[in-house]
Amino acid sequence: MSFKSLGLSEPILKAIAKKGYETPSPIQAKAIPPVLDSKDVLASAQTGTGKTAGFTLPLLHILSENQRHHRRQIRALILTPTRELAAQVYANVKEYSEFLDIRGAVIFGGVNQKPQVSKIRQGIDVLVATPGRLLDLESQGLLSLRHVEIFVLDEADRMLDMGFLRDIERVMKLIPAKRQNLMFSATFSKDIKKLAYSILHNPVQVEATPENTAVEVIEQKVYRVAKTKKTDLIIKLISEGDWQQVLVFTRTKHGANRLTKKMISSGITAAAIHGNKSQGARTKALAGFKSAKIRVLVATDIAARGLDIPLLPHVINFELPNISEDYVHRIGRTGRAGASGEALSLVSADETSYLRGIEKLIAQKIPVEIIEGFEPDPNASTEPIKPGQNRQRSPRRNSKHKGEGGGSNSRNSNRNRNRNRRRNNDNRN
Ligand code: AMP
Repeated sequence: MSFKSLGLSEPILKAIAKKGYETPSPIQAKAIPPVLDSKDVLASAQTGTGKTAGFTLPLLHILSENQRHHRRQIRALILTPTRELAAQVYANVKEYSEFLDIRGAVIFGGVNQKPQVSKIRQGIDVLVATPGRLLDLESQGLLSLRHVEIFVLDEADRMLDMGFLRDIERVMKLIPAKRQNLMFSATFSKDIKKLAYSILHNPVQVEATPENTAVEVIEQKVYRVAKTKKTDLIIKLISEGDWQQVLVFTRTKHGANRLTKKMISSGITAAAIHGNKSQGARTKALAGFKSAKIRVLVATDIAARGLDIPLLPHVINFELPNISEDYVHRIGRTGRAGASGEALSLVSADETSYLRGIEKLIAQKIPVEIIEGFEPDPNASTEPIKPGQNRQRSPRRNSKHKGEGGGSNSRNSNRNRNRNRRRNNDNRN
């Protein structure tokens, strides 16, 4: 199978060749033809499968082949849950449209809106946006979605997790009823199916390799350890293994900050990436990590979602996620594109039920190891920490919100409720 045989135009094939892609990934091979056929598509795909090109390439093809109407009006809208993902999708739009007469822009909260507005004013065909900033600018009359022909909802499951349902519904009311819809999600809960049903019309359903097969190529290990020994153990593993590029997941933002500080004081270059960090700090941390200036990136689930960090040899779960699917997303950061990788989890007694849930989901028993001097605490309770007892919760619950995709000036109470949900979510992450 070649990109050419999928029916993409020459300028797009040229951009693909420049990127160095030789063959379409499975999700691209399955999603591109129905999208080119103007069908609605519901795709099951997580980050790392090439899903972004799966919708961006055919979308650009359609827009460029049919430029008669509404040139330099927003004809395609791509909604993403986080700023990082928005920035990455936009980078893809730019690269793939290099040889086309198509202009794009990206908007998200947490940064000054002026440059974003001036870009939109100059006229754009494709807009990549997080929901809060999109609704803000629309309500200020700074952009119009009346000419949208193609609507893409990326990482729909994460959108719902972050409390964006109301915002999505508001966006839907602002775009024409007659349009093509593409929805991507890694998981398919009841709520996601309900959302899909409300947005899509007779969608073609496509699926990347089932998540569990991706899991099989990753070497997984659990270190049973006392909670109080986790920091020392992770520092030992990274130092003695001489690992140079490690992605570490913590459950909370404070946990991420604390661990980062401890790593730095042990001589390991590290940076934290989470929803309380400014956009500049996040971009800098990610760039430092990618260029190998920083050895360890400590991230929360929401912040890490959608980050494009190819070929990562080591992923460590400093704490297990309480949502089993997040484990699959996390370890999907290693062993990408056929390369093998290692995913290690430090598991204390109170995480036992999370571990069971994960093993059930991936239908695998993860091998367990105990390192001398870092044994689990035999007296520790195996009861999971309840949300209300979370000792690592942010003490600054009323501080100015700088959540993922945030920055909206809400006026109605529904939005306020929604924002509170997002804020709570952000505090956990
Ligand atoms: P995504 O799942 O969209 O985040 O893409 C994951 C990574 O795969 C990105 O670094 C892409 O640049 C890369 N990629 C996407 N499509 C292909 C392809 N057909 N061949 C090789 N790499 C690809």
